[in-house]
Amino acid sequence: MNLVDVTVIGGGPCGLFASFYAGLRGMSVRIIDSLPELGGQLMALYPEKYIFDMPGFPKVLAKDLARDLIAQGTQFHPKLVLENTAVSAEDMGDQWVLRTDKGLELPTKTVIISAGAGAFAPTKIGVDREDEFVGTSVFYGVRDRSIFTGKKLLIVGGGDSAFDWAMNLNDIAESITLVHRRDVFKAHDHSVEIVKNSSVTMKLFYVVKELHGSNGVLEAVTLENTQTKELETVSADAICVNIGFKSSLGPLKEWGLEIEKNQIKVDSKYETNLSRIFAVGDVATHGSKLKLIATGVGEAATAVCFAKTYIDPEAKLFPGHSSDLEL
Ligand SMILES: Cc1cc2nc3c(=O)[nH]c(=O)nc-3n(C[C@H](O)[C@H](O)[C@H](O)COP(=O)(O)OP(=O)(O)OC[C@H]3O[C@@H](n4cnc5c(N)ncnc54)[C@H](O)[C@@H]3O)c2cc1C
Repeated sequence: MNLVDVTVIGGGPCGLFASFYAGLRGMSVRIIDSLPELGGQLMALYPEKYIFDMPGFPKVLAKDLARDLIAQGTQFHPKLVLENTAVSAEDMGDQWVLRTDKGLELPTKTVIISAGAGAFAPTKIGVDREDEFVGTSVFYGVRDRSIFTGKKLLIVGGGDSAFDWAMNLNDIAESITLVHRRDVFKAHDHSVEIVKNSSVTMKLFYVVKELHGSNGVLEAVTLENTQTKELETVSADAICVNIGFKSSLGPLKEWGLEIEKNQIKVDSKYETNLSRIFAVGDVATHGSKLKLIATGVGEAATAVCFAKTYIDPEAKLFPGHSSDLEL
């Protein structure tokens, strides 16, 4: 693979903005992401939710924001290395060589890590045969709400995501049953009230015990009462599981980066303790850290400008105003 000026690890909002900014500054860019599509948490965790704190957007759906961030972030044609997890980094003096879990060797002058919470995976229900139904009847989060149209839907969980989807899908699902292992919720009280007063059936003190069906088509689910241990089988043809995500920096922890509470420590340039490796967005921590898109993209722009001065010591740190350009 060709040597590039900067490799961005993580194609979420901050990585995409870093890619755009690096392109703006005339740098060659590569983006690596372990997921098959760009967008990070916006697409993986909450594509159908509205975001209200983006400058210039009074209200924007996460998937629409992701679409526009992707358009902007790929404007200067970065090389995309998707479905690859960056697993190691070797310092060659004037460049780093990154290696991925698929065996790629990717030389780069600088690195910007925008890995969010790390490569994340959804927490599963943990019952037999679960994998048989994943993607056809069992879903972790909602990528496309229309797939629940007319379904007898079981929503598992007691947090905001579970209640948000119970409210959001109630108009298109045939029926919704919310299954939660206790009667205490982590969701906002207001959402809980709305769902309690809706047609959603609440099965509290229940867990999913068994899945029934064949060829990936779910027909029914056996629930167990966590207090009485009684079993009950209910008809269901889809399950939306919202019991969180497990995330870990995983291999990044082995790179010799200074880590604090699962985040990478950076200085005021957003550079890590490893020379020419920067970290921005949710994955980075410093004295005034806020894990927000609005602040993370600013970190990305700053890191890119400092990376630029490594690559070209004659270059000014200040990028100038984009409104002076013709793109
Ligand atoms: C439900 C929910 C609602 C939210 N609402 C808001 C909101 O209203 N406003 C707001 O500002 N923020 C909100 N956030 C937070 C916001 O989404 C995050 O701050 C933002 O996504 C962080 O962006 P990022 O680019 O740092 O990382 P992420 O979006 O997490 O992207 C990181 C990417 O890195 C990839 N990756 C990780 N490790 C590797 C590796 N080793 N190799 C290759 N790829 C890797 C991952 O696959 C992922 O795609 C919300 C978050 C959630 C969960």
